[in-house]
Amino acid sequence: MGDYILKCLECGKELEDHFTNACGKHNALLKSVYRIKRIATQDKPGLWRFSDWLPVRKHFDCDTSPITYKSKGLAKELGLKNLHIGFNGYWPERKAKMVTCTFKELEASPTLQRAAEHGVKKLVLASAGNTGKAFAYASRFTRKIKLVIVMPECSFPIYLPEKVSDSVCLVSMKGDSDYSDAINLANFLSNVPGFTNEAGAMNVARRDGMGTVILDATLEIGRLPAHYFQAVGSGTGAIAAYESSERLLADGRFGKNIPRFHLSQNLPFTPMANAWEKKRREIVPDEDMPNAKNNVKELYAFVLSNRAPPYAVKGGVFDALTATSGRMYKISKEEAIRAGKIFEKTEEIDIVPAAAVATASLFKAVESGFVGENDCILLNVTGGGEKRLAEDFTLHKIMPSIALADKEEPEEVVKNLGL
Ligand SMILES: *Cc1c(COP(=O)(O)O)cnc(C)c1O
Ligand SMILES: [Zn+2]
Repeated sequence: MGDYILKCLECGKELEDHFTNACGKHNALLKSVYRIKRIATQDKPGLWRFSDWLPVRKHFDCDTSPITYKSKGLAKELGLKNLHIGFNGYWPERKAKMVTCTFKELEASPTLQRAAEHGVKKLVLASAGNTGKAFAYASRFTRKIKLVIVMPECSFPIYLPEKVSDSVCLVSMKGDSDYSDAINLANFLSNVPGFTNEAGAMNVARRDGMGTVILDATLEIGRLPAHYFQAVGSGTGAIAAYESSERLLADGRFGKNIPRFHLSQNLPFTPMANAWEKKRREIVPDEDMPNAKNNVKELYAFVLSNRAPPYAVKGGVFDALTATSGRMYKISKEEAIRAGKIFEKTEEIDIVPAAAVATASLFKAVESGFVGENDCILLNVTGGGEKRLAEDFTLHKIMPSIALADKEEPEEVVKNLGL
């Protein structure tokens, strides 16, 4: 269990893990290479049952997990015979117990556990909202790690069934700041001695944690799906699904074909979809995301707003799309709202805007004949059950621990944080 090495996707160098998130020479993803090639689920709570393929040696007592079920209602609506839903959120009737209601919980737990195992004391990360919420919640299990979470002002307040622990410092960036500004501040903070950058998509624990969606689905269905649908902002979840699919192929028991990826973004901000349309590895800001700052504000699914996604990087979204003969979809707000309503009616659970974007892309794929009625399809519902959660819990409104001005000097920021 947890027996692995890290390998740089650019130079192939093999590294021991010391919370290592890059080889030192290349700005390329590291991949975790596990000794165990045939996965066996462990008798452990939640996602830890996939510990064979998680970069951790131990676990804490948190039972967050993806769940997979075969759709009846939505499948019938779309005329599909083999549609499976990977549900990440709160839906206790189906044993989905994520109280932060998105698949970011799958990143938070293994990342904090990995950080704890490598003696990290102060961890810094940026978020558009859901990642921050998931980490803020999960840090109750790793209180020795001081966690600094930077989010734009518009991502507050967040709602949780419990107050966050003292080990969390929630930083809000006032004014006209967005997710990318939060990333910049987090990067600055992580250069302050004593602080460690969580590293986002570069962090193998994040990706392998999110990869459990496809592990759960494949073990549940008994084979790798032929198609995988997901809404992407950074695409970390999609890279994770690709890496886990490769491990499942190598396992040998789940089929010989990698799933075809169908990734979606929300208009009017679709940088990866625009670059992929031209089969370009590079995102060209002027062409692929003109007017970014304003267009991000128009988004129905605000979490899909990353202006610097790991798209071009070796092993990133471009490579995942190439290897899976992938497609990308641009979904309007109206299309997403319509699909979300149909999902809620046919499956009897509410879903978040990003998951509605993915659902709308499935509608488009069916209309265009990109999937066949008998094809084995996995729809990753990346978040849902917020309404369902409110029926069971009294939610606390969580406000930032500190609000910083956009233009504050870096030194002032550190002083302000008092860390
Ligand atoms: C973050 C997020 C996404 C996008 O995930 P990627 O990291 O871009 O793969 C989709 N849906 C929800 C609900 C999210 O929080
Ligand atoms: Zn390298």
